[in-house]
Amino acid sequence: MDHFITKQLEALDAHHCLRSPISTMAEEGMYVMRQGQRLLSFASNDYLGLSRDHRLVEAAKTALDKYGLGAGASRLISGQHLLYDVLHAKLAMVKGTEAATVFGSGYLANIGVIPAFVGRGDLVISDRLIHASLIDGIRLSGAKHLRFTHNDVDHAARLIAAHRQEYERCLIVTDHVFSMDGDIAPVAALKTLAESNDAWLMTDDAHGLAVLDQGKERAHIQMGTLSKALGCYGGYVCGSAKMMAYLESTARSLIYTTALPPSILAAAIKALEIILQEPVLCQTPLKLAQYFTDMLGVPKAQSPIVSLVLGSENAALDAAKKLQVAGFYVSAIRPPTVPQGSSRLRLTFSALHSTDQVASLAQAIKGALAWHQ
Ligand SMILES: *Cc1c(COP(=O)(O)O)cnc(C)c1O
Repeated sequence: MDHFITKQLEALDAHHCLRSPISTMAEEGMYVMRQGQRLLSFASNDYLGLSRDHRLVEAAKTALDKYGLGAGASRLISGQHLLYDVLHAKLAMVKGTEAATVFGSGYLANIGVIPAFVGRGDLVISDRLIHASLIDGIRLSGAKHLRFTHNDVDHAARLIAAHRQEYERCLIVTDHVFSMDGDIAPVAALKTLAESNDAWLMTDDAHGLAVLDQGKERAHIQMGTLSKALGCYGGYVCGSAKMMAYLESTARSLIYTTALPPSILAAAIKALEIILQEPVLCQTPLKLAQYFTDMLGVPKAQSPIVSLVLGSENAALDAAKKLQVAGFYVSAIRPPTVPQGSSRLRLTFSALHSTDQVASLAQAIKGALAWHQ
């Protein structure tokens, strides 16, 4: 065993793929303490700063005092706290669907939902750059998986035309906002493609909820997470009431796992109330991202995620190190998270950043990296 692990670690190291989590403690604003250094973070999905918002913390504390810590059982046994009903109704309202159901995390939602709808003998057509949790859900389903070129609806249409008839059911899967690129999927066109080919469309809105207008066109299955802009934890699926009844009886990653702690449910409910009341807060991360891309002279940000592709693993790591010396924490994203040769800096903007902070990051990147487009 020890020998095997040693060999594996050496191989990972040789490919610059050895990773280890480094303790990162949130401080006020978007500052973090990391390796004894206080850094301004552009590496968090806490787009609205809600993870430390006193209103969410108070809601969670009240629920903690009243209901204690763990849920004690799965949702189908005795873990279905009354707060689930409130949260489901609020989620459905925010997403404009009839109903919603909450999973333990976004990852659990994806590995539960996809196998509930497709299996052996069925076809999944997905964008090449979908999130790893969607890929795991597709693998677990046993369905045939074909990928289309990123955001290329014509390629998706060609794959469907060539292969749809060999399979029974067909599901098209895409991220709404691509987590590593920050660009947006052509949801309306993919929905039309699905509907004209007896297929369903599923979108993963992990990075869109509460920070981007989702437009009028909605997927048949809409999943997302409570752990990013909402600042909490958990995943969700929105759609018809019938769909939720079906998932609650069949999605294994919902059934065979303990329900979320009531305090988290209470905080997520509060987060949804805040985003319904504060549209300006929700627009701020995208505005800051666009201010940043304007300053840098790169294509305008489409979401609060901005990727600066540098190529090699070393280029990305070096750039992140230089920025760390300048007082910024940004993440260097490398394969297998992104394709070979597209290692990058991935920056995320939050409503807690000031325009001055964003401007100084842009200056640091321009200067230290001699970034020019
Ligand atoms: C973060 C993320 C997930 C997983 O959500 P968790 O709640 O963190 O498990 C799924 N899909 C996408 C696109 C994500 O970015």
